[in-house]
Amino acid sequence: MANKKDNTRYIFVTGGVTSSLGKGIISASLAKLLQARNFSVTIQKLDPYINIDPGTLNPYEHGECFVTEDGAETDLDLGHYERFLNVFTSKANNVTTGRIYQSVIEKERRGDYLGETVQVIPHITDEIKHCIKLLGEGGKFDFVITEIGGTVGDIESLPYIEAIRQIKWEMGNRAIVIHLTLIPYLAAAKELKTKPTQHSVKTMLEYGVQPDILVCRTERPINDGIRNKIALFCNVKASSVIESMDTDSIYKVPILMREEQLDRVVLEKTGLKPVKEANLEKWEECIARLSTPKRTVNIALVGKYVELVDSYKSIIESLTHAGAIHHCKVKLKLIQSEEITEENAASLLTGFSGVIVAPGFGDRGIEGKIASIKYLRENRIPFLGICLGMQCAVIEFARNVLQLKGAHSTEMNLKTDYPVIDLMEHQKGVFLKGGTMRLGAFPCVIKEDTLARKIYNQKTISERHRHRYEFNNDYLQQFEQHGMIATGINPQGNFVEIMELTDHPFFVGVQFHPEYKSTVEAPHPLFVCFVGAAISKGDDAAQ
Ligand code: GLN
Repeated sequence: MANKKDNTRYIFVTGGVTSSLGKGIISASLAKLLQARNFSVTIQKLDPYINIDPGTLNPYEHGECFVTEDGAETDLDLGHYERFLNVFTSKANNVTTGRIYQSVIEKERRGDYLGETVQVIPHITDEIKHCIKLLGEGGKFDFVITEIGGTVGDIESLPYIEAIRQIKWEMGNRAIVIHLTLIPYLAAAKELKTKPTQHSVKTMLEYGVQPDILVCRTERPINDGIRNKIALFCNVKASSVIESMDTDSIYKVPILMREEQLDRVVLEKTGLKPVKEANLEKWEECIARLSTPKRTVNIALVGKYVELVDSYKSIIESLTHAGAIHHCKVKLKLIQSEEITEENAASLLTGFSGVIVAPGFGDRGIEGKIASIKYLRENRIPFLGICLGMQCAVIEFARNVLQLKGAHSTEMNLKTDYPVIDLMEHQKGVFLKGGTMRLGAFPCVIKEDTLARKIYNQKTISERHRHRYEFNNDYLQQFEQHGMIATGINPQGNFVEIMELTDHPFFVGVQFHPEYKSTVEAPHPLFVCFVGAAISKGDDAAQ
């Protein structure tokens, strides 16, 4: 009997012509379709940059940093994978060139290479292959989908493409390559153009890799003529040329890919029989609710990275999931916190039925966040503060209700008289930046008869964290006496994880990141209830 281990299929997704074609969404959509056919699937992202992980990257570089259950700081595409598949990813699902080199260099220092000259080929490529195959080990998955970051032709991607070439050579049809390209429409010529795709496939061929399937991103339908032309010049069957039209929601892509039979072609190419069609019933139900909202609600997100929506990707998606539950379209506006003051908060925040204050680091825009929260607290507007957003709510309450003038977080002001947010004990003496925060999933016990308990309907929850500072328990009694209560506590460290106001329709600050756990099929209760509260607020205002 064949070893089950040898049955894992490896699908590589590469990108050509330009970046931002949506490799992550195509990978996640294909995974969804295979999962809906009852295959076990995992997805991995290989990023060709030198950072060990994206934890040290400014969100302006690659968007938000997504945190997994096991505390890995990863690429935001892992967020898409989790939101589509409804299964957790882990550290092994995101590898960077930095990590590959780090591991090879550590082995070299340990003497593992027994005096060999350590080179890109075979040592770096072997390490890449090891990371890819690691996920398939033990026969846990029928498919391992590996998305290669960057664009083919980049110097950085070369070792990855070489590793793919070798794996394809070793495994035959158990490894296939899906190449995602762009078919631009030239308005002046009134034509879709295939040449960039031809060149991109030629580049792959130069590296010894023949793509098996081409997914063609396009804003106009590609007709049979174009399909046949691409097939002929790129050496693939016409049925392996898959159209990927622009669409208004990323969640519709699995449906579009099913219509284009991407999953069926993948099964054929990898020698599997398409015995069962992909059952996307539950998914389609969610999409239907998303596509036919019965109402809208205006919500604002106050943060400092508003120029790039990718910086708050998971929060934005969580709001979309929650809106769908309420049959409601969430109209979201991102507001730059640096522009908000106590004087203009009312005018900038009027018209929003709920406001989220975003996570973040450093003091840029912090006073704007605090001023916003004052307005939301005083005007009884639903508020959700996430991580730094929760810490700002604590600072605001200390300054304006407890009258602790100049209260602050020691992250922003080391010399404050009232350090209501302070560095966590185990963070003192930590100087290295990467991977050293309080990271990943931790339990939290929720007090009875509180809003948090109503939201979660559970005593013990688990949420993901990414922070160094925490609520300073020396002040807890004072806060609680005045109506801001700690309703969620970490049982091991006694850290305050949830703060809420008793005398407010919805005022919740959480030290963790609920946005990392919201998926299409399981929207997060905190966002569901927040959007619900915003809808009620909007209704009240309309009366
Ligand atoms: N800067 C804050 C801390 O480290 C908040 C972090 C966050 O919002 N993720 O504690």
